[in-house]
Amino acid sequence: MIELRTPAEIEAMRPAGRFVAETLATLRDETKVGTNLLAIDRRAHELIRKAGATSCYIDYHPSFGAMPFGKVICTSINDAVLHGLPFDYALRDGDLVSLDFAVAIDGWVADSAISFVVGTPRDEDLRLIETTERALQAAIESATAGNRIGDISHAIAEVARGEGYSINTDFGGHGVGRTMHGDPHVPNDGKPGRGFPLRPGLVIAIEPWFLQTTDKLVTDPDGWTLRSVDGSRGAHSEHTIAITDGAPIVLTDRSAVGAA
Ligand code: MG
Repeated sequence: MIELRTPAEIEAMRPAGRFVAETLATLRDETKVGTNLLAIDRRAHELIRKAGATSCYIDYHPSFGAMPFGKVICTSINDAVLHGLPFDYALRDGDLVSLDFAVAIDGWVADSAISFVVGTPRDEDLRLIETTERALQAAIESATAGNRIGDISHAIAEVARGEGYSINTDFGGHGVGRTMHGDPHVPNDGKPGRGFPLRPGLVIAIEPWFLQTTDKLVTDPDGWTLRSVDGSRGAHSEHTIAITDGAPIVLTDRSAVGAA
């Protein structure tokens, strides 16, 4: 079921959005060569406790998950791109890091993801990250009342195709509200003018993610981490946005909390 939020409800979602934005900026700034993925998770957990927020991940146990996730942040490294389960690993020079983070505050969820490189970046990694960011921006610009979900999907895919990346539509964006994953599904490719109409009050996460040379994923033995089938690297950018009568509100906007 697709639910529309009142302006007051969207205002009530802002604290969760701000906290997710601030936390991702903090974690990115603190993550260096040598940082252990378990330390990133511990730090995120500490920030959650201080804020009185509730993790959407720690007890998350969907049908495809072998067991509850058990951590509060996804850390996907290099050829891992989605649902990376933090494990005992110290980051190395040039590692491509994707952090995906969702919490609830006062019962409202926000969900966002960023990718970055620690240490010396490879040009092809920077291009991949920049393309996911540009696809997200194009998607947000298309997320106006009167358009449809397919316009968002198409905007994402056009940016990806322009850089020669192929697109996997199995995992994409989703409705966000009292829970992390609701309707509608927001695939990373689609036809303009098709799909659910965008109306003021619709709150969705948009999350382009691309792999360098494939669109196929395999699941790690941990039952969660999704990585490219060919070892090529992935990147992921996600914001939670609210459709309005005008430009969408980017609830997880890091520039709104003074971060890049
Ligand atoms: Mg997310």
